[in-house]
Amino acid sequence: MTTESALDTALSQLRTAVTKLGLSENEWQTLSTPRRVLEVAVPLRRDNGNVEMYKGFRVQYSTTRGPSKGGVRFHPDINMEETIALAMLMTWKCALTNLPYGGAKGGIAVDPATLSLVENERLTRRYTSEILPIIGPDRDIPAPDVGTDEKNMAWMMDTYSVNAGFSVPGVVTGKPIVLGGSLGRTSATGDGVAISTREALLARNINPLGATVAIQGFGKVGYWAAVALENMGLKIVAVSDVHGGVTGFASIKELWDHFLTHNNLDAPGTERMTNEELLHLDVDVLIPAALADAITGHSAPGIRAKVVVEGANAPTTPEGDAVLNDKGVLVVPDILANSGGVIVSYFEWVQDKQNYFWDADEVKVNLNQIMMRAFREVEETATSRKVTWREAAHMLGVGRVAEAHRLRGLYP
Ligand code: NAD
Repeated sequence: MTTESALDTALSQLRTAVTKLGLSENEWQTLSTPRRVLEVAVPLRRDNGNVEMYKGFRVQYSTTRGPSKGGVRFHPDINMEETIALAMLMTWKCALTNLPYGGAKGGIAVDPATLSLVENERLTRRYTSEILPIIGPDRDIPAPDVGTDEKNMAWMMDTYSVNAGFSVPGVVTGKPIVLGGSLGRTSATGDGVAISTREALLARNINPLGATVAIQGFGKVGYWAAVALENMGLKIVAVSDVHGGVTGFASIKELWDHFLTHNNLDAPGTERMTNEELLHLDVDVLIPAALADAITGHSAPGIRAKVVVEGANAPTTPEGDAVLNDKGVLVVPDILANSGGVIVSYFEWVQDKQNYFWDADEVKVNLNQIMMRAFREVEETATSRKVTWREAAHMLGVGRVAEAHRLRGLYP
């Protein structure tokens, strides 16, 4: 069992970066405080006429380097603390990858599986209208996260545009292509996780060709990472979703086709395993791509993978991290490993601002270039400062935000 919340984890990582960078107590105060925190009531008229109230959140953790940017999560367990933690991580991620953004996060405490399509639309539109005064293409740009996808982004874009009186595609990213979405955005986070996996294996002198992988979470990130990794020649031996894991499938495509038609992972030839068993498989790479706190002081000792690539945000607690470091496991931290999503979201926003759209190759080439630059910087910092990759990534991200604070000064 872990006692750490996602916010404890994020603050402890920030404290380490602040100490290693030699920043002052004043800078710690500035960096550890979210700029704007909003909780709203989101009423929903159910299809049967009943009215239910849900809690909605939007946190703009930082706007120092540009408009804030971050996903919208629909999950019954989200709360303000976790949303602040995830918005903080977005801040360091955007700075690490040198995107001209601050960090944000938001969502509604709801299980989207309990909503009909039109209830989901009504809830999304009401949430958008409640947070409308603080979002916008130059203020704060939401995107999909756990439990939301491009249809939610289309409704958010429409609600904002109807209120503005004209189309504002740049208010959200992760939209359908015909509404100003970007080619390559759907698979971008998974593509970035695959790039991270390849580079981490090479850094450990392991040939990616034929390397074995287990993936926890088979949603937008886990699925597209699996597809990209299989295309690179790695072998996905197990995947899981909220109901547990499976192994023994012929290919990711076959498993996905089965999932789409049967809504479960029990494709012909597969065998079941628990999520805990999946974490402890003897594989080269473990990719947590579900929710926070998957790798804890309790689950980490049994992990046998040589490399952990964090597709999810905050999947490893500090206790879990310490165990992995002691075991010599190379951990590619979330703010680097899953940054492909926000990088291509940035491309989408740039394309919307310019009304000029790129082809898929241009997206891929630019994504690879930005991720490789961040990767090299993290690797070099880890070596020169004798720190872990997570510490190096946070030092780079936090250091850039601190520098921006210094240069802007304090008003008044
Ligand atoms: P999603 O809702 O599309 O998929 C989540 C997956 O995790 C589903 O397969 C679900 O069944 C599974 N899951 C939930 N609880 C689980 C559990 N206890 N054990 C195993 N599996 C479980 O969400 P997503 O967009 O793929 O996001 C996954 C993670 O990646 C989140 O931490 C999110 O913040 C992070 N992330 C997402 C993006 C993005 O572009 N979507 C970008 C960066 C980071």
